[in-house]
Amino acid sequence: MEQYTGKSIFKKIAIGRVYFYEKSEYQVKREKIEDPEQEIKRLEAAKVVAISQLDRIYQKAVKEVGEDNAAVFEVHKMMLDDEDYLDAISNTIQDEKVCAEYAVATTGDNFAAMFAAMDDEYMKARAADIKDISERLVAVLLGRDTDMGALDEPVILVADDLAPSETVQMDKSKLLAFVTEHGSSNSHTAILARTMNIPALIGIPINREWRGRMAVVDGYTGTVTIDPDEKYLETMRAQKEEDEKKRQLLSELKGKETVTADGKKSIHLYANIGSVADTASALANDAEGIGLFRSEFLYLESSTYPSEEEQFQAYKTVAQNMGGKKVIIRTLDIGADKQVDYFNLDKEDNPALGYRAIRICLTRKDIFKTQLRALLRASAYGNISIMFPMIISVDEVHQIKAILQEVKDELKAEGIEYKDVEIGVMIETPAAVMISEELGREVDFFSVGTNDLTQYLLAIDRQNPKLDEFYDPHHPAVLRALQMVIDNGHKGGAWVGICGELGADLTLTETFLKMGVDELSVSPTFVLPVRDAVRRCDTTKW
Ligand code: PEP
Ligand code: MG
Repeated sequence: MEQYTGKSIFKKIAIGRVYFYEKSEYQVKREKIEDPEQEIKRLEAAKVVAISQLDRIYQKAVKEVGEDNAAVFEVHKMMLDDEDYLDAISNTIQDEKVCAEYAVATTGDNFAAMFAAMDDEYMKARAADIKDISERLVAVLLGRDTDMGALDEPVILVADDLAPSETVQMDKSKLLAFVTEHGSSNSHTAILARTMNIPALIGIPINREWRGRMAVVDGYTGTVTIDPDEKYLETMRAQKEEDEKKRQLLSELKGKETVTADGKKSIHLYANIGSVADTASALANDAEGIGLFRSEFLYLESSTYPSEEEQFQAYKTVAQNMGGKKVIIRTLDIGADKQVDYFNLDKEDNPALGYRAIRICLTRKDIFKTQLRALLRASAYGNISIMFPMIISVDEVHQIKAILQEVKDELKAEGIEYKDVEIGVMIETPAAVMISEELGREVDFFSVGTNDLTQYLLAIDRQNPKLDEFYDPHHPAVLRALQMVIDNGHKGGAWVGICGELGADLTLTETFLKMGVDELSVSPTFVLPVRDAVRRCDTTKW
């Protein structure tokens, strides 16, 4: 039995087999070969395997996200059969006498660059598809596991590091836990693990030899145990059962109010979600609404810009699933760690301080307007509010309002129904804190993004694991900023919530109530623990 300790992201226990996930960005070597015909045969065999993988993924996607959204995998299958593409690979093998992996990788890069340089937006977006199919082919040629769909039991996923775009595409029903060597506890991958309600460890020295072996992930101690002995397994199974019982006890709070013991103070308790499917977990945990739908995950899951119709369907489904409860949808917040290939964003020296979120939306108005149209159309089917990320000025809010009005006018002219939605801004930059009084007069609500606000107030990159110990969301600067935002928001007439991870910090629940916070939005699994904490507070003792 081997044990390794790292940092835990989510306190829970998982027991299962290790699935070793390897990045699709393989180091492909340029190896000389003697027999080009033999390499071309390997290429053809790999193509057959890749197509059958895509078949399986397509079938699964049709069931989970519908035929329209699954269509991309059919496109990938067709591309794998494209004669120009296959001829170019075979020619490289024959002319340069190189291995098939190298020929696929270079042809893939060349074709992707060619598509990316085209003027037509649709063709440009095909660059990501070419990269995707080439990576799949290379993975098959190298005999690497990339097809989680082929797994028949849920697994503990071990990886060097995971990007949000990789995490979001994984089959959640097959995941028991994440264990990674790199990554920070404030990253979006960590946030996704919490939303998915699975234990996750970072900072573990991983080893490929663990592949397929039995393991236990203990999210309480931050330990992963490979090849656990029977005695340890028994202890952990018992602890897991104990956990389950505690969760059962909390479930008695479903349907109860989020109010203090003396009944004097109540708050709204909402859930953070990253996908349409997460509404199930928000409802199962009795969230009163959705306080943050990170809409950018729709973009991260996709291999090209999601169309207005696709987005409309997603927002409408969330609104309908929540049945009239409040649903706050945040507009696109990509950039920094959330990179989307088809946006073709330049590499930046300081991505966290770079071209991201509302800055992209205000300069690429076509993308912004498509999303706003989809959101407004969906507003007719439920109780949607729209929230804007990374705001730093009143002028930005004015620009947003003007664009929103433009979109409303267009919809009206087309006779398309929409509601007059509430709008709010995320308070996650020091600038927004300082001008919160003015911002409060402009919008209906604030939601404090403590993840970014801590990063920017303390000048600590939330992605850098070396700085985890310095990243202190309890820092007086953060708590004072919060009080200032609450007071200024109220002065201006805006209600104020928290949707950063700090909202779920049970040691601060009472402090938030005292500060006058109106709403907390937390990962679905934290809804009932926060309700429990609020119900234990007593304002007569303050
Ligand atoms: C935040 O910054 O606190 C927030 C909620 O947004 P995200 O974590 O997606 O940046
Ligand atoms: Mg943020």
